[in-house]
Amino acid sequence: MKLKHTNTVCPYCRQIMNRIPDHPLSRSREHLVPNTLLQKTRTNGDFEFWACKGCNSDKSNLDFILGTVAKSQSECVDLAVNAFIKAVDYRGSQERFLDMIRSGKKMPDGSIALKIPVSGLEMAKYCTYLGQGAYFLKNGIPMSKSMHIVLFEVFNSHVAKELEHRYRQQWGTNAYRDLEQNSYTRVFAPGEAIMWMRNGQVMFVFHDRFVLILRIVRRTKANLIKLDQCSYEFYR
Ligand SMILES: [Zn+2]
Repeated sequence: MKLKHTNTVCPYCRQIMNRIPDHPLSRSREHLVPNTLLQKTRTNGDFEFWACKGCNSDKSNLDFILGTVAKSQSECVDLAVNAFIKAVDYRGSQERFLDMIRSGKKMPDGSIALKIPVSGLEMAKYCTYLGQGAYFLKNGIPMSKSMHIVLFEVFNSHVAKELEHRYRQQWGTNAYRDLEQNSYTRVFAPGEAIMWMRNGQVMFVFHDRFVLILRIVRRTKANLIKLDQCSYEFYR
């Protein structure tokens, strides 16, 4: 598959990449939305770009965790259960997922809420990658981490489901299918991964049930305090 973006600078660390095999700065294909998160194989390379091997492998450690969490929020029981089984088998991540299962709390509607097995700092780091990728896809140049930071909010399946319900009551259609038609939206895989972006605001919707809202803002003292609050709110 040919890449639409032929960038020579890594959108994450802003270093010039090379083609030396196994070199930390060698260029590698970056999907932004990880394959582990999707059921189907993507069919176009429009949202792919080059990233250095170092950043790519650093991000991919968290890709697996996020992919599993997003799938586990799915309405499709097979998908959710298989994601869990795979995760528990995966080296290094067993404890996180077992802790997640142990954290299960029954909600008033009878469903079970689980704690997401990622720390606030890991989530902040991952959302920075996603924000940088979105910024690069939109502007064609890397985001500067000395100029900008990425604030984030995480919404689980309860919120996503409620939003879908209220939207349907008001408009009679499915919120996420309508979002796929919006001109500010990029669809990585229909029904599985959608990204909406406008004026520094980015929203990712995974499997219609896991929503991340990012804000790319200037790196000011006040915004750095807000970033600490994002991590804290998430981890609570
Ligand atoms: Zn890099």
